[in-house]
This record gives sequence, structure tokens and C-alpha cells, in this order.
Amino acid sequence: MQTTRSLLAQSRLFEGLADDELNNIVGFCSKEVYAPGTTIFSEGEPGNKLYIVEDGKVVLDMALRIGSGSGRNGSIDVITKGQVFGWWGGESYIQTMTARCVEKTKVIAIDAKGLWQILEQNDRIGYRVMKKLVGVISSRLLNTRDTLAHVLSIASHDLKAPLAAVESYNKVMADGYAGEVTEKQKNMLTKSSARITGLLNLIDNILDISRVDASELKTQTIPLLELVDKTREVIAPLAEEKGITFEVIVPEQLIPIKCSPYRLHQVITNLLGNAVKFTSQGGTITLKIGMQDDRILVEVIDTGLGIPSEELPQIFGDFFRGVKVDSDGAGLGLAISKKIVEAHGGKIWVESPNPASGVGSKFSFILPAIQLQSEVNTGRGIRV
Ligand code: ADP
Repeated sequence: MQTTRSLLAQSRLFEGLADDELNNIVGFCSKEVYAPGTTIFSEGEPGNKLYIVEDGKVVLDMALRIGSGSGRNGSIDVITKGQVFGWWGGESYIQTMTARCVEKTKVIAIDAKGLWQILEQNDRIGYRVMKKLVGVISSRLLNTRDTLAHVLSIASHDLKAPLAAVESYNKVMADGYAGEVTEKQKNMLTKSSARITGLLNLIDNILDISRVDASELKTQTIPLLELVDKTREVIAPLAEEKGITFEVIVPEQLIPIKCSPYRLHQVITNLLGNAVKFTSQGGTITLKIGMQDDRILVEVIDTGLGIPSEELPQIFGDFFRGVKVDSDGAGLGLAISKKIVEAHGGKIWVESPNPASGVGSKFSFILPAIQLQSEVNTGRGIRV
């Protein structure tokens, strides 16, 4: 049977350490054996141990929730002999994954606090282990990226294509091109199409999360007002339907901007769409565009329900949805908007309540403008 020290020496994290250095760590190690199917730790539990697999196989699962469904677990990595998982820092930590044995598994469990102390006290060990850790994290990220790329290719080819086909058949039938349809059948076909359109949008959003980056942007120089008008066409009817006033405040002169018009339109409609969604009847939403130094500042302001302060730091995270929110949505709109703004070299942020009014929310983003400020007439006109 191998000693704990020799197992540590063979692990990716501790290889290259001298025997006496390893002996320091052995003092904080214990051996544990798990039957197939055992959960070593669960997502959300406090974490205080780092594990090295001596023998067997551990799968790391993460709870994934898309849309308003109840969610399910997705496996993101398989850990085998010599590899590490778990928590290793000095402070207590909440596990972000669940570790599940798929076969009989022997592990070395290292007390994280003890290990941390050694790393802090001994610079050489600390430096070496940290260096290895970067490798471990980078390979886990690569692995996750490969998995994501695989899932995305399934989403784009295997899910989107048949859905798009069903949607177009529905339309053909609803429009009566495949024979006469009753009003009731037409109604059902239209509803079915709307659900499919929703699904296709969700798939597009999931694909967007991974593919929006600066190299993907197809930029051109366009007058910003053109974009504002296009956005207004989408948002004005939604606001009107809900009994919300929609204000647009823009400089009188057109500001040309180098951007991906499609993506920027996506950001502004996402923000305004949310403003409509989270504002009740009688409220006001405002799109305001101006210059800040040599940059373009876009603000979307609402008088709606606002965002709890504890949710503000997570609001731009992938799949984040407010705890009290019960409307439809996948929690991707803001995450995609952030990626798009950053890919344009800009920055996006939120204030809630809006400091000027003390209610609702104010989302702002800045983008680099391509022309000199002197060319721009920043006098503001009101366009509704
Ligand atoms: P979704 O709208 O699909 O939930 P988003 O990424 O657009 O996804 O928004 C994430 C969350 O941010 C929402 O679920 C909501 O909690 C909060 N949020 C976004 N915009 C607003 C707003 N204008 N007012 C209040 N809450 C908002």
C-alpha cells in the first residue's frame, strides 16, 4: 500500500516538493473510502477539505437552471487518480459543486486550514503549490469550455434547426397555405408559433453568452438615432400596452458611432424591455443619450420596482434572476448586454434606486465615440 506521502508526491498539486516539505502536509491528511454513489460533499455546504483521488472516480456536478424551470444537475468534470477537488483555502467556503463517487473511491482528505497555514508559513511550498494550482484551474476551465462548446453546438444545430422548421410549418398552416383552417385552429397554431419563437430566442441567448466577443462584432459606422428609432418601434407598443409613459431624450444632432448595430440594438432593447417588465401601469421609462467627455452615455431609467441592494452585485451574472421576480425570463439579458458593451470597449452599470428620483432603477453604459466632441451638438431635445 502506498504511503500518504508518496501519494501526495504523485499528485499534480504537490509533485516536486521535497520529502520534508511533504511531511508537513501529511500531518493534516486522513484517508477516506467511499462506496459507489456516495456524495462526498454537496453544493451549498460549507467546504473545509481538499481531496486527492488515490483510486476511483469522482464526478463534479453543478445545479443548472435555465429559464423558470426547476433546474437539474449537470456534470462538469470527472476527477481520477492523482487529481484534486474540494476546497483548500484557510477561510470557510461554500461548495459551488457536488462531488459524487461513480465507483468505489479512495481519497486523501487534507484539512484546508492546516494546509493554508503551511503555505503561509513556508514561502517555497506556497509558491510551488500556487503555481501548480494555476495549472489545475486552467485545465478545469479548458475542460468546462470544451463541454460548453459541445453543448452549444448541440443547441445550435440539433435544437434550433428542427424548431425553426416546426415554426415555419405552423406559419404556413396558420396562413391557410396548406388548406383551410378554422379560426380556432389558426389561434392554436399562432400560440404554438409564439411558444416556439420564445424557445428559439432562449437558445439564441444561450449561444450569445459564449460567442459575444470583440472579434465577433461586425462593426459599422451608423447614426445612433437610427438605432434609437428602431428600438422605439419595438418598445413603444409594449409600454403603451402596459400603460407606461416612454420618454426618449437624445441630442438634436445625430451621433455617428462605430458599433455592431445589431448587438447595440440588442442591449438597448434588453434594458428597455426589462424597464417595461419591472414597471407597473402609470410608471415612466426613459431612454436618455448624451455625451460624457469623449464617450457616449446611454441611460435607461424606470420608476419600477427597483432592485434589492443585496442583488446588485450579481445582477449582470449569467442566469441571474431576482428572488422576487415571477415574470418569464432566463436571466441572460443583462449578462449578454454586459458582454456586448465590453466587447465594444465600454462599461455598463446599474444604480437602484435611481439617485435622481429615489425610486426604480437606472442602467447606464458608456461607449467610446468615434468623433471629436466639438463635432457633436449636445443640446438635448425631447423625442417621444
Ligand atoms: P431576465 O429579465 O430574463 O430575468 P435579465 O438578465 O435581463 O434576465 O435580468 C436579470 C434580473 O435583474 C431580473 O430577473 C431582475 O431581477 C433584475 N432586473 C433587471 N432589470 C431590472 C429593472 N429594470 N428593474 C428591476 N429589476 C431588474
